[in-house]
Amino acid sequence: MALSKEELREYFIKLCHARNRVIFESSLLGILLVQFKLAVDENCDTVYFDGERIAFSPKLLDELELDEISHVLVHEMLHYIKGHFSIERKERAILDLACDMEVESLIYELNSHCYHGVGGYVIPYKLPGSRYVSAFSVDDAYDTLKSQKEIALYKSFDNHSKWENAKKSCQSQIHMKRAIALVHKSPFTKLPPSLESLCDMELDTCDIWEGLSEPVPSVEEIFEGNCKAVPKSLDTLLALIYQMVQYAKECRHDLRKISNSVSYACGMRADFASILFRDYCYIEKGYKDFLMKIPDFYKWFSTRGAHFNGII
Ligand SMILES: [Zn+2]
Repeated sequence: MALSKEELREYFIKLCHARNRVIFESSLLGILLVQFKLAVDENCDTVYFDGERIAFSPKLLDELELDEISHVLVHEMLHYIKGHFSIERKERAILDLACDMEVESLIYELNSHCYHGVGGYVIPYKLPGSRYVSAFSVDDAYDTLKSQKEIALYKSFDNHSKWENAKKSCQSQIHMKRAIALVHKSPFTKLPPSLESLCDMELDTCDIWEGLSEPVPSVEEIFEGNCKAVPKSLDTLLALIYQMVQYAKECRHDLRKISNSVSYACGMRADFASILFRDYCYIEKGYKDFLMKIPDFYKWFSTRGAHFNGII
């Protein structure tokens, strides 16, 4: 039975809340996540990622609490980061579980109070037979699982059957490179320790922002208060945020220009404005106090900024 408009709206609100939790918890995973669409698909059993969207069944969304949905979103992003879509092995079911185990061990490493499992689904986060949790690869897990007979005991929440499509759209890892350029070792990168070296990746910032869906508005005009139109496409928005943060650093003591940029950002999608404002807060020590003099920033901080839970 097709979902009503109202039901769909409720599901999207729940999904957006869960996504916001990821953004507030880890900037790298959050910025990676905002580059993909969230969807509700009545034809799937649980959830899948196809390289363009993460689609949930209404049934799974009914079953899960917000934290659990955030856990699923992070799970999908870690499959992306680890390049699991391109791995091939003879026994697909064992490979699927090995990939899920690697991802869950990384979530365990994150040691976040936000992610502590998903409903009644069971995915081990350590190698069978191993007493301790330590980093392992898909290969380690695959080989260990092959010699075990317990694989049928495990039930995963995500369906990996659309990975062929994901492989094509995620090959260049452009989403991750853009996220790394934006967070650039900020205090909120928050990755599992064994993935932290990702942020040392050499990036060619010209290549990263090539081929955007729309032209990026002039940053000078935004800071002068002469531009109101906000790009709609996600890649252009991210490129714009990147440029705005660089520009704001140069004119950080110019209250008028910074105020104009804050007013402009209030017209952005809320999760993108949060990414920008969080970066603004770290332009220099104590900069949040300067920003609090700006009414629009003050208003944002007193409402949405509360999600940061004292992070800024
Ligand atoms: Zn998975």
